[in-house]
Amino acid sequence: MLQSQRSESESVDSVPLQRLRGIGHIALDLDGTLYRGQTVFRETIPFLALLDRLGIGRTFLTNNPSKRPEEQLEHLRQLGIEAREDELYTSAYATVELLRERFPMIRRIFLLGTPGLAETFARAGFEMTAEDAADQPDAVVVGFDLTLTHQRLCRAAWWIDKGIPWFATNPDLVCPTDQPTVLVDCGAICAALTAATGRSPLAVAGKPDPAMLRGILHRHGLEPRQLAMIGDRLYTDIAMARATGALAVLVLTGETKADRAASAEPAPDIVVSTLGELGSLLVRAKQGHC
Ligand SMILES: [Mg+2]
Repeated sequence: MLQSQRSESESVDSVPLQRLRGIGHIALDLDGTLYRGQTVFRETIPFLALLDRLGIGRTFLTNNPSKRPEEQLEHLRQLGIEAREDELYTSAYATVELLRERFPMIRRIFLLGTPGLAETFARAGFEMTAEDAADQPDAVVVGFDLTLTHQRLCRAAWWIDKGIPWFATNPDLVCPTDQPTVLVDCGAICAALTAATGRSPLAVAGKPDPAMLRGILHRHGLEPRQLAMIGDRLYTDIAMARATGALAVLVLTGETKADRAASAEPAPDIVVSTLGELGSLLVRAKQGHC
């Protein structure tokens, strides 16, 4: 592991820096990496500008499948982060990718999800079945459903109980919020369905499933060695990067503290205090000073 906090006179392992030199695309976690809540980190905008100057592509990653892409982009814009739709990758896209890759026979789904999630599936060619015991789907897909009704939850349980395969968009139990509520997320809805049926989802997309990063590799025609994943969580961001073969960069602006990072397994390839430090390393690596 490379700790960038070491001075340059110290002997450091130059392998991660050499790997940084070959990076052509960076996948960025959002909360804890670019901002916390509504506060964008001071280093974020300059870091994104540096990526542009270095000709490094970027993708903004989110496990939240509930928003339409344009809503997610507007949220970033309000924080001062300009992004295009092809720079966004959500767990909704990852779920589509997972089904296409591993279960190509599935065309008709019963969906517990927002209209935004339904739109993503419809655009990808899936057909949504009705809340009707006579309209049997090929699969049930459960998302972070902000429009959930008891009736549809029961219909999902009915199909799952009948042995219809089921999938989840993301494993998160709750969605972080600064509002006076607990935002029950996909993982907790799935827990209710598992309790009711005794069956667990066949696969769960979103971080830490490597399908999330494989989708980005496919989208841009990249090799894993050309991709770096930057995030603040060891068990999602770093685990996923290591499983995919991408360069795993942990930033200490979110959940993980330095002492925990030092003993982590799987270990990040690079640990930086801020995006600014990573920017300096990228410049050094691209200039060949390693
Ligand atoms: Mg995060």
